[in-house]
Amino acid sequence: MTDQLSVSPTALVDLEELDKKHYLHPTTIPKIHAEQGPKLSFTEGNGIYVKDTKGDEYIDGLSMLWNVNLGHGNQELANTAKEQMTKLAFSSSFAGYSNEPAVRLAEKMTSMAPGDLNAVFYTSGGSESNDTAFKLSRFYWSMKGKPEKKKIISLKQGYHGVTIAAQTATAIPLFHQFSSSGISDVFHAKPHLTDCELGGRSHPDYEGSIRDIVEKEGADTIAAVIVEPVQGSGGVHMPPDGYLEAVRKLCDEFGILFIADEVICGFGRTGKMFGVDNWDVVPDLMCVAKGISSGYSQLGGVLIKQEIRDTLVQYDQVLAHGFTYSGHPTACAVALKNIEILERDEVVANVKSMEHELNAGFEYLKDKHPTVTKTRALGLLAGFELYKDRDEEIPFDSSILPSTEVVEECFNRKLILRPLASQVGRNIVAIAPPLIINKRQVED
Ligand code: PLP
Repeated sequence: MTDQLSVSPTALVDLEELDKKHYLHPTTIPKIHAEQGPKLSFTEGNGIYVKDTKGDEYIDGLSMLWNVNLGHGNQELANTAKEQMTKLAFSSSFAGYSNEPAVRLAEKMTSMAPGDLNAVFYTSGGSESNDTAFKLSRFYWSMKGKPEKKKIISLKQGYHGVTIAAQTATAIPLFHQFSSSGISDVFHAKPHLTDCELGGRSHPDYEGSIRDIVEKEGADTIAAVIVEPVQGSGGVHMPPDGYLEAVRKLCDEFGILFIADEVICGFGRTGKMFGVDNWDVVPDLMCVAKGISSGYSQLGGVLIKQEIRDTLVQYDQVLAHGFTYSGHPTACAVALKNIEILERDEVVANVKSMEHELNAGFEYLKDKHPTVTKTRALGLLAGFELYKDRDEEIPFDSSILPSTEVVEECFNRKLILRPLASQVGRNIVAIAPPLIINKRQVED
């Protein structure tokens, strides 16, 4: 840590004033921001650490937004971006144009992906990937002569982004409070009901399960089910063993596409290259973003299984979908380098061993603090909960938010974490440090 200012005090005040005046921040309380200005601005980073304008150093315990997987200040990624920008800053992927990094990355990702996910459609991020997956699913069914298969099922507490379609699938109430109108035909199912999805109609929670929705709406109207292998922003919820397999089975039984939202889980976060690799499941479409480039460039994509790709390529008119930055050469070059480093430095194996260190830390925390419970980690996607009485599972009064207080206190001690207050009465704290973290740093 250093007490050297990286921005002069006058410049700092200027910056804060300009921020208050001109910058409308995402997922921030505007009234508070307009009055108080930014909480802090970061200026530089190195590995798991970031420094603010005052020169204070923090441990980035959430990889910023679950994305800076190789950590901050990675020179190889920065140099790759510079080299590619210097060579060819941009090239369109529309109308059949192409570029080498986009092609090489498509080949690389499809070789790493499970099953026969053999083609990629590029986007600029997670929400665009999920919107694209919905559109491709609907279009696929239309090509199959079933244009009425349009509905999408997502899971309660699922987070899929904020573009209109992705937000409709996001089933966290806060996001619907901001903008309630979305696309029609999206249903939010109760999550993680393995027995129900396998057909257990007598289960007390059957009503509202995926299977119940499919039966009520009719499989011939449903295009796809979208699931995060581990729910991230909704509370770091692990699926029970057998759950994803049960959903896969249900989709096969009814002829529904299975979309895995791997935006957080993908590229090593869970101790496997992709989240679904933790189970015996191959999705039909797989949405990626965030960790694909460790946040060094804005990139996303949808991986598509062979049969869907083969169906789509029968279309003899313009597939009128795509973003200006689909297949951006710099973003793709950075992602290729990111994957090369993940493999070369055996980062995914490090994630698995750091999962054990994190769990050891959780035991210590539970020993010290009688309110801490429900600790969980799959790789470096982790969280814990706070209860007034953890043995009886009595939650804190809803007017008290200890998860926010804990995160504030950690922040004061220079550790960045995130409270997830997405479920009424639950106080969840998320932890997802860069995947290159070591044992000593986990202990810190
Ligand atoms: N899907 C998941 C699982 C996410 O966690 C996120 C973002 O946090 C998104 C989709 C949306 O991605 P983006 O913010 O890049 O649009």
